[in-house]
Amino acid sequence: MEIIDGNQIAAAIVHELKAEVATLTGRQPCIALVRVGEDPASVSYVKKKQVMAAEIGIESRLILPPATIPQAELFALIDQLNADEGVDGILVQSPLPKGIDEVAVFRRIAAHKDVDGFHTLNLGKLAQEDDTGFVACTPAGIMELLRRSGVSLSGKHVVVLGRSLIVGKPAALLAVQRKAWANATVTICHSQTTNLPAITRQADVLIAAIGKAEFVTADMVKPGAIVIDVGVSRVPDATKKSGYRLTGDVHFPSVSPLCAKITPVPGGVGPMTVAMLMKNTVKARRLNQST
Ligand code: NAP
Repeated sequence: MEIIDGNQIAAAIVHELKAEVATLTGRQPCIALVRVGEDPASVSYVKKKQVMAAEIGIESRLILPPATIPQAELFALIDQLNADEGVDGILVQSPLPKGIDEVAVFRRIAAHKDVDGFHTLNLGKLAQEDDTGFVACTPAGIMELLRRSGVSLSGKHVVVLGRSLIVGKPAALLAVQRKAWANATVTICHSQTTNLPAITRQADVLIAAIGKAEFVTADMVKPGAIVIDVGVSRVPDATKKSGYRLTGDVHFPSVSPLCAKITPVPGGVGPMTVAMLMKNTVKARRLNQST
């Protein structure tokens, strides 16, 4: 069994991006990080994004509207950032407070600044296999992890647990692309799927993205499978100073001995998500070279 080290692979991407940014002419790339409210997980994710951006040489602008911001005001803020020629990428950290329509927010961001890849146009380009768009960072990070770990999906059965816009659906669309490293046969499962363990046991590659702590147990995994654990849940743990620990959707102690390869939580998909956001921001800067 091999543990896929997301921190190490993300560090290699950071190194490559740093070299790429050094070759850019004109101003440095710039990402606007919009965090609405004080959700503790969002505070931590945005901080990680700021730190990685600084390491690469990407300027980040932190914008912190209160959780009470009306949707119309958030739209006006996004419109300003859309019009700002000094901003290449815009990220609005999810989850957003209740009462704000998340998908409407994703659509409001100009498609050419949508470094999160959730805009209708970018999702459409993904479906059309048009590489000029932006691919959502977590699914893109999963594919990069697999590629850089020497895994080809071609001809393999990939089972994706979860059908969200952010992870499940785009991950499935990437795995099924007509590309040498993709070409997988894909099954998507969700909360209404029946006989779930019978399906997951057929997976050569299992991507778990449901947000239920340690849901995937040993009886749901085929021996020799590759398991990508996307889930991040906080579970109470009295031995930790914080009172909790992070865990994935996979019960790591029982599943990992069975697998050919597996990602840990933390230290698997998480750092790759941030690295791919930076990659998209550098891509946006290149597309926006006139300023
Ligand atoms: P989401 O929008 O809540 O979607 C969860 C999906 O899982 C839904 O499609 C849901 O089905 C399905 N599901 C829920 N319970 C299920 C069950 N018992 N059996 C089968 N399917 C079930 O979540 P998300 O945004 O995709 O995120 C999923 C997890 O990944 C979360 O823990 C999140 O924190 C984590 N995440 C991590 C990263 C990272 O960088 N590491 C990035 C993004 C997300 P229905 O559609 O039928 O409701």
